[in-house]
Amino acid sequence: MIETDVVVVGAGAAGLAAAGRLQVAGVPFVLLEAKHRVGGRAITDTSTFGVPFDRGCHWLHSASINPFTAIADRLGFHYQRLSTKRRRLFLAGRETDDATRDAAGAAISAAFEAAYKAGRAGRDVAMSDVIDAASPWRRLVVHWIGLMSSLPPEEISTLDFANYRDTYENWPVAEGFGALVAAASAAVPVSLGVRVRAIDWSGAGVVVTTDAGDLRARTAIVTVSTTVLARGGIRFTPALPADLAEAIEACTLGHAEKIVFRFDRPVGGFEPTSYADTFEPDGPERAPINFSVNPFGHPLAVGHVGGDFSLEIARQGRAAMIDFGRAALVDIFGADIGKRILAATVTGWSADPDIGGAYSSARPGKGALRARLPVPVGERVRFAGEASAGPFFSTAHGAHLSGLEAAEWAIGRVGDSPPGR
Ligand SMILES: Cc1cc2nc3c(=O)[nH]c(=O)nc-3n(C[C@H](O)[C@H](O)[C@H](O)COP(=O)(O)OP(=O)(O)OC[C@H]3O[C@@H](n4cnc5c(N)ncnc54)[C@H](O)[C@@H]3O)c2cc1C
Repeated sequence: MIETDVVVVGAGAAGLAAAGRLQVAGVPFVLLEAKHRVGGRAITDTSTFGVPFDRGCHWLHSASINPFTAIADRLGFHYQRLSTKRRRLFLAGRETDDATRDAAGAAISAAFEAAYKAGRAGRDVAMSDVIDAASPWRRLVVHWIGLMSSLPPEEISTLDFANYRDTYENWPVAEGFGALVAAASAAVPVSLGVRVRAIDWSGAGVVVTTDAGDLRARTAIVTVSTTVLARGGIRFTPALPADLAEAIEACTLGHAEKIVFRFDRPVGGFEPTSYADTFEPDGPERAPINFSVNPFGHPLAVGHVGGDFSLEIARQGRAAMIDFGRAALVDIFGADIGKRILAATVTGWSADPDIGGAYSSARPGKGALRARLPVPVGERVRFAGEASAGPFFSTAHGAHLSGLEAAEWAIGRVGDSPPGR
């Protein structure tokens, strides 16, 4: 049996950060990742289209306080200081005038504000209870809530929503945020393709069971998603405390996917890295979708869907997703755009058994439970990852920060009894 000080489970943004901190501190560790690549929900695809696009995280949210902004500067990555609010709106195949676009934007902001207000006042209700149910922009509002929180308003806690710290700076990364996450931890050794099946914390340390054998360690940092944990992806002996299991269940992931098109050349009439929303107000089948158009001058349209619709369309499969995205593109660019599409791809985060969705959101009435997630279990196991990231939940930088915190905790345990005894 391999012996080490710390076993880190999962090599997404959290696991990589935790392992990197342990490496700097000189604490022996083993980082185990089920997939044959690092990054988890942070992955830049350069092979499908020959130009980079992010399948998962793409924007440096709250960029001026985001640790990845400084990391990007240090590593020579580029980003654009853009606001995602500056976007165009197409309804039923026509671009709206500015007043209509602004009215739609105001309805979305009003819904977010209503949730913030309720949450900051300590009210923990469903977001649907506080937003304007009669707004003519309701479908667009629900779409944007789905992109923000990856769930429908009925399933979002106002308290949790309001706990999120936002500076309203969302800066896209030119070379890809996934590439940045990987580059930041390029020197960290990872055991790829090793799936953790069980963690026994009944003794003084932990015994971690994997397909490649067992490891004994003083502590374990577990960074797999809350959905993977809630589904019993890792068996714990003894079972996790009931209050922690309840918090995991309350903060599972919602849904968000991307539908991405490559054109023969950048589309005309749109500056590099423009944003556009489109939907058919009277056609339920033409749900809202947001496109990032010509990102960094590349000939792409990256479509984003979130919440219930994302799950629904993803379940219909790749062809249905592409058909839906293509129809939306026609609404923005006209029928000829079809001839300019060279290739298309879609993501499948919800169906990915190692992830199971997009990002975490606490359910109504359970907004306070998130705080339980990073509390160590028996001083031997600590959870980390975006769901455990306090006010930075649901983000890659939150995952990174929570990984660093978990590593500090593990470093503090090094003087304790030797592993497994
Ligand atoms: C479509 C989409 C868009 C997003 N956009 C943004 C954005 O613009 N900005 C932003 O900041 N965030 C964004 N996010 C969220 C961000 O990507 C995540 O919050 C963050 O990457 C999560 O990192 P993590 O380390 O907590 O978890 P993960 O990335 O899920 O890492 C966990 C790792 O554990 C591995 N694993 C699972 N089970 C096992 C097992 N049994 N044994 C070993 N390994 C296992 C998984 O394979 C995975 O690699 C987006 C996410 C999605 C899906």
